Parts: sequence; C-alpha cells; structure tokens
Amino acid sequence: MKEKLIVVGNGMSGLRVIEDLLEINKDKYDITIFGEEPYVNYNRIMLSYILSQEKTFEDTIINHESWYTQNNITLHKGDKVISIDKLNKTVTSQNGKVENYDKLLIATGSKPFIPQTVGSNLNNVIAFRNKADVDTIIKTIDKSKTAVVVGGGLLGLEAAYGIAMHGVKTILVHRSGSILSQQLDSTGGKLLQENLEKYGIEFKLNTTIKQINGISDVEEVEFSDGSSVESNIVVFATGIIPNKDLAIEAKLDTKKGIIVDDFMATSDKSIFAVGECVEHKGNTYGLVAPLYEQGKVLAKKLADVEVDGYSGSTLSTRLKISGVDLFSAGDYLGDETTEELILLDEKVGIYKKLVIYDNKIIGIVLYGDTADASWYLKLLKEHTDISDLRTKILFGKSALSGDSGHGGDDVNSMSDDEEVCGCNGVCKGDVVNAIKDKDLKSLSDVKSCTKAGASCGSCLGLVEQILVNTLGDEYNAVEEGICDCCDVGHKEIKECINENEFSDVYEVFEKLNWKTNDGCIKCRPAINYYLLVKYNDDKYKNDKRSALVNDRNYANIQKDGTYSVVPRIWGGLTSPQELKDIADIAVKYDVPTVKFTGGQRLDMLGVKKEQLAPMWKDLNDCGFVSGQAYAKGLRTVKTCVGSQWCRFGTQDSMAMGVKLEKLTWGSWTPHKYKIAVSGCPRNCAEATIKDFGVVAVDSGWEIHIAGNGGIKVRVTDLLCKVETDEELIEYTKAFMQFYREDAYYLERTAHWLERVGLEYVKKIMLDTQKREYYVLRFEESQKSAQVDPWAKAIEDGFTKEFSPIVIKPEESVSFEAKEIN
Ligand SMILES: Cc1cc2nc3c(=O)[nH]c(=O)nc-3n(C[C@H](O)[C@H](O)[C@H](O)COP(=O)(O)OP(=O)(O)OC[C@H]3O[C@@H](n4cnc5c(N)ncnc54)[C@H](O)[C@@H]3O)c2cc1C
Ligand code: SF4
Ligand code: SF4
Repeated sequence: MKEKLIVVGNGMSGLRVIEDLLEINKDKYDITIFGEEPYVNYNRIMLSYILSQEKTFEDTIINHESWYTQNNITLHKGDKVISIDKLNKTVTSQNGKVENYDKLLIATGSKPFIPQTVGSNLNNVIAFRNKADVDTIIKTIDKSKTAVVVGGGLLGLEAAYGIAMHGVKTILVHRSGSILSQQLDSTGGKLLQENLEKYGIEFKLNTTIKQINGISDVEEVEFSDGSSVESNIVVFATGIIPNKDLAIEAKLDTKKGIIVDDFMATSDKSIFAVGECVEHKGNTYGLVAPLYEQGKVLAKKLADVEVDGYSGSTLSTRLKISGVDLFSAGDYLGDETTEELILLDEKVGIYKKLVIYDNKIIGIVLYGDTADASWYLKLLKEHTDISDLRTKILFGKSALSGDSGHGGDDVNSMSDDEEVCGCNGVCKGDVVNAIKDKDLKSLSDVKSCTKAGASCGSCLGLVEQILVNTLGDEYNAVEEGICDCCDVGHKEIKECINENEFSDVYEVFEKLNWKTNDGCIKCRPAINYYLLVKYNDDKYKNDKRSALVNDRNYANIQKDGTYSVVPRIWGGLTSPQELKDIADIAVKYDVPTVKFTGGQRLDMLGVKKEQLAPMWKDLNDCGFVSGQAYAKGLRTVKTCVGSQWCRFGTQDSMAMGVKLEKLTWGSWTPHKYKIAVSGCPRNCAEATIKDFGVVAVDSGWEIHIAGNGGIKVRVTDLLCKVETDEELIEYTKAFMQFYREDAYYLERTAHWLERVGLEYVKKIMLDTQKREYYVLRFEESQKSAQVDPWAKAIEDGFTKEFSPIVIKPEESVSFEAKEIN
C-alpha cells in the first residue's frame, strides 16, 4: 500500500519537492496538498511581472489543475492547516478536514514583516507577497496619484517599478543611504538609483515612515525627514519572517525558522520542512535557488534514494526590471582582509566589482553588463585561483580568450559546467544533453524538462541561444502553440492560411484541430489578421467580433471607462480652421481634457461612450477622419518643419510626411506602426525610434527601420539611402507590406527584425523584383482599407457596435476580446 504524504503549503518549494519526487518515484506516495491561497501552484517570483503588466496571472501558473489530476494529487485550495497532531499523525484544516499522514512536509514559506507604525493598521497598508496583494495594489493605485513603497531591497524596487509602470508617481523610502544595500555596494546602488529615477521613481533615502494618516483607508504619509505626501497606499517590502506558526503549535524545534537537519527532517523524524520557513545550520533563505537545492535532497530522501545531505547555498541575485542588468553574489562588501578589483564607467552605466580573498573571488557585483555573471560565479563556486587572470578578468571572458567579437553571453564561449539558470542550478551541459537525449524542440520543452528558465525567467534568452545552437536550422521549424486553444504556432498557422482557402476563422480552427469552439483573445484576433492580410481585398470580411476592444469601438478606452477621440492630423499639420473646429466640438461635448499626443495630434479625453458617434459625425462633417489611435495599423506620421521653415532643412519633411500618411493610413499591421520624417540629420522628428523613420540628407533620404520608443527603447537600423521621393514612396509601401505579411500578429517591427535579422529584411527589400511585388500587394490592399471607420460605423448604425457580441448567430457564446497589448 502507498504511504500517505501530506504537504502543507502549495507554494514554490513544497511543489518542487513533489515534482522532483514524482520524477524519481511516482508510485510511492498517496499525496495530499493543502494551500492557504485559493489558487493552483503559481510562480511567486513572477508577481513582479504581473504588477509591471509584463505578464498575466495565467502566465505564472506552474502546475495547472490537470497536473494535480494526472498525478492523483488531492489539492485543498484555500484551506489552511491549523494544527498537527504528532502522536496520531494527523493534520486539521481551517475548513475542518482531518487527514492522517505517514510523512508530513511543511512548506509554509514566510510572512511579510510590516513594522508597527501609527496607521499601519489602516486599509491599503499592505505587503507584496502574494497574488491577493498584487490585486489590491493594482486596484488601489488605479485610483491613486501617488504610491509609497517602503524598503529599497529587491522586492521594494520591483514593487516600485511595477507601480510606476502604471503611470503612478511612486515614492520609495529606504532606511539606508543607498538602495539594495543587501546586494550592492554604494557605487552600484547610486548607478541603479539613477537608472530607476528615469522610470519616475522618487527616492527618499536615510528616511523612514513616521506615521500613516487616515480614517479607515490610507490618506497621507508622514516621513521621518519632516515631509509628507497624500497617498492612498503604502506597500511594505521590509523583509520576511519564516512562517513557523504551525511548527511552534506542534512543538517542533524552532529558532529563526523551523530547525532542520541536512536531510530536511525536523525534530520529529516523520515531519520534514523545506523552503523559506526553515532554518538550516543557523541560516534562513529568501530566494528560490537554495530552496530548490534543499528540495532536491528532500525528494531523494522521501524516495529512499541515497543522497548527500544539504550543506548550505551560495546566494546570487538578479533584479527583474526591464532594462536594468544587475547581478550580485557572495560577499560583495568584503572587509579589511579582502581586495577589490573595480571597473567603473559611470557615463555608460557599467560597474563591475570582484571581491578577492587569497587570490580567489568571494564576492561579485555587476551592474550594466552582466554577460559574464555565470562565468564569475563559476570561478567563485570552484574557488579558482585567479592570479593569472587578474589583469584582464574585469574585461570578461571574451577578453581572456581573445574572442573580442563575442560577449560572455555567447553560449559558444560557455563551458558545459557553467551555470545557465541560477534559480534552478542548471548548467549549459544539462540543457544541451537534455535537448539531444530527449529530443527537445522548443523553449517550453526545455523549460519543463530541465527547469532552466522556469523560475524568474531572466536566463530564458540564454536558454534559447543554447537551443538554437544545439538544434541549428531545426529550431526555427518548431514553435509553441500561440495560446491554450491550439498546439500550433504563428508560423504554422500562417502557412496553413496561405496554402488553403478559408472564408472565416472557424474554418481555420477546424483545419488546425482547435481545442476550443470559439478561440480566445489571443488566437481569434491573430487569425482574423492573417486572413485579412492574405486576401488583401474584400474577399474576406474583417471579423470585427474578433477584434480587440479598442479596435471594435474605434476609440481608446481609458482607465475610468471613458474613451478618447483622436482625429487624424495629416503629417502633424493643421490649420486655424481645423483647430477651431476641434475646439468647438470639444466645447460642445464638454470634453474634460484636450491634449497634444506624442504623435502631433489632438486627443480629446474623457468622452462618454454614448457621445462617441455624434462626435465622430461632427468631426466627419468638418472633414476629419479617425486618427486610428487605437489601431494595430498606421498611427501617425510625425514631421519636423523641414526645408519649408527651418534654416537647416534639406528636404520638405512636412510635405513628405503628409504624402506618406495619405498613402499608408487605414492599413492593418501586426502591431501599431509609426512613421516620422525629419528634414535633416538633426532629426527633430525623432525618426530613429519609429517603425519607419525617414531622415533627409543632402543626397536624398535615409530610410531607417524597426525603431521603438516604448518601455524598451530601440533605435532603428539603417535600411538604405535613396535619392528621389519616388524611391522613398516605393520603399514605404514595400516595407509596410512586407512587415504586414512576414511578422507575427502583435509583433512590433523591432521584435520582428530582431527575430528574423536585418540581413533577411535587407535581402528582400533591396531586391527590385521583390520590392515591386510588395508594392503591388500594398496598393491593392489599400484600395479596400482606406475607409474611415467613424463614417462607416455611423453608416452601419453605430448602436450595433455597442450591443452584446454574438459570435455565431445560431449559438450565443461568451467570447469578448479585450485589449491584451
Ligand atoms: C514579488 C516577489 C518576487 C520575488 N522574486 C524573486 C526572484 O527574483 N528570485 C528569487 O530567487 N526569489 C524571489 N522571490 C522569493 C521567492 O518567491 C520565495 O523564496 C519562494 O516563493 C519561497 O518558496 P516557499 O515554498 O518557501 O514559500 P511560498 O512560495 O511563499 O509558499 C508557501 C505557501 O504556503 C502557504 N501556507 C502558509 N501557511 C499555510 C498553512 N498553514 N496551510 C496551508 N498553506 C499555507 C502560503 O499561503 C503559500 O502559498 C520573490 C518573492 C516575491 C514575493
Ligand atoms: S499613454 Fe502610453 S506611455 Fe502614457 S501612460 Fe498610457 S500607455 Fe503609458
Ligand atoms: S530635423 Fe533638421 S530640418 Fe527638421 S526641424 Fe530639425 S533641424 Fe530643422
């Protein structure tokens, strides 16, 4: 008969033990798991990405319900274990369940530490620990102009960054004189702070919270420096305390945490503990890598497989903030007995410090360039004598090998025992062997088989490089499903659409064995787009029911549920009469905010849904069409004043901008598409961060492509130079059509170019015949695309647009696409 194993805590470490155990022996135990949180096992680390809106909760789920079922595991979600009876070997839960065990695993994690201050009991004084906290933060900051985060450690910084990404002013209070004082020295802290200030985070260092004021909710925060701020929320990220409540109640040995031996056994040999709740040889840990190391040992122990005991871990960390590269490990501060090797380039934002003792690396701080992190870590872990490397070591591994063209992240330069994924302790060799031995073909295969990249995800780029290197051409042929409705990727869907004739999205679903009847918000808009692009004329009717919400309503929905109305302003040029017309309409509809957009248009914000159609009609009557500020299509063509007015202008950028906008408006593209035209290389229209950037030079025009001014700025690549206006127009049409047909849906030009490579795009675009082909396809498509959606909506009877969506007339279904990007 199977033994009964109960796990208390459905979090990261407990479930990893079970995953490892199932791999060794899936028949030994009858497993029951209790989780206080009402969810399946999710990746807590990724809460930071949910807050910063880079991932959804669905993306963070490690094990879905089906995994529990397939492995015959009983999961009691949202049910906390409140006591353990050691004598009778039973646990009792809050919902009154009593279950007996042969072996018990406590994996209850930590509790956040919120210091007692006046007002710390008010509503919206919260921690950043679980999904419920993130939900509360997002809900509250949506109504708040300022948020306060307390604690300048990893968690506090990620919380502040995530909140700032919502456009909320964020004040971060930190007790020490520099941020991340547990991982960085003051030089690194200063560089990091300067970088984060660019995201709009304001730092108050050497400061604490004096008191929080409010009646039931937070209203105002007073600081120890005498200042105060109005705020609706205070997020504490001031540390964690091992959650040992249950162990204390059961009279197990505890100090800082639940005391365990090298095999994770507590003072009761039938009860084990793992994760943040334990104390091993006086140490507690708050990162996943050590917890997974503990888990590996425990899984073997539970499976009765011989194993060396756990002997403690070396900690290393990375910060999960887009555009901030930071790594630290070991004793990064050192003392009077240690030496420091330092490289600092403040202007470029690079700082590297190695702390050396007895010619060996004992601490690492890398900021701005973390490419060699795994190599330095290997030297640290292996206690390598670096005497011979000293003079060059800070310049990285490539400097030592003389391979100056490749950074340390180049997988070719990594040895098999170099670590790829710090969280899961996976080396390059493990990944390569798994790909070869288990015939792995995709990133998700590698993730689930080796666990590399399955935790914080910061090494996924490296894992993918290994995959590409190991599989060569085979890699491109393999893709992941675009959503849970199917097993096929964009490439395969596009190929299928191009090889067959379809008249609606359902026929595509059927052909490709969709698992759902109606698709979802990821696949429906994508397939609708591919069909539209293929037919390029009116053979396929745009399925508006598959469009995202803004596209369906021809207006951008704003945070308070109102809309913004943006008329097209050709090339950014307007006239006194147009301005007067817009002003009259804004006054007529009592528009609360009128704003110049970043793309030289006027945005009327705060428009109620029922006002949309009459307002569009009035704008139409004055000669305006929709600016399609909501569209996955051409947004704006930004211009500078150019040679018409500017002393430096070499070409008429305004006239060219208007011409290009008249040419390209209305077109559908995989993602939003922006053009800019500058009249000389001074580039006042910022053309080099646009999808298609045009810069006038003495000999004609430079054409730049695939720039992006979003969260992660990407400067364009130069496609080519042309001499005449006609050539420029030809390239404008050809490039746009090529992007429309070649990129995946929701792939911006920047990501597309990075995926396919500049050489590939150049090869097609610089080939006269291919260019002509795309020009013709573009011209054909524009014949049916350049219809003003506002006028069309009114003609069709606009009220229909806002009635409930019915996918198929005969069967009413609940699909409603929402903006996902
Ligand atoms: C926002 C955030 C970002 C992070 N980023 C990183 C990172 O980048 N890198 C890194 O290494 N680490 C990071 N961490 C830390 C990492 O998430 C933790 O180290 C890890 O989750 C700890 O695993 P655990 O299993 O010990 O605890 P948890 O994952 O917290 O799981 C414990 C679970 O037990 C449940 N529980 C508690 N008591 C009971 C009970 N009596 N009955 C039933 N269930 C109970 C809890 O509700 C919880 O779901 C981050 C943490 C947070 C909060
Ligand atoms: S308009 Fe753009 S940049 Fe501004 S808050 Fe909204 S999404 Fe962010
Ligand atoms: S880009 Fe050149 S032409 Fe245009 S405004 Fe600037 S300086 Fe003048």
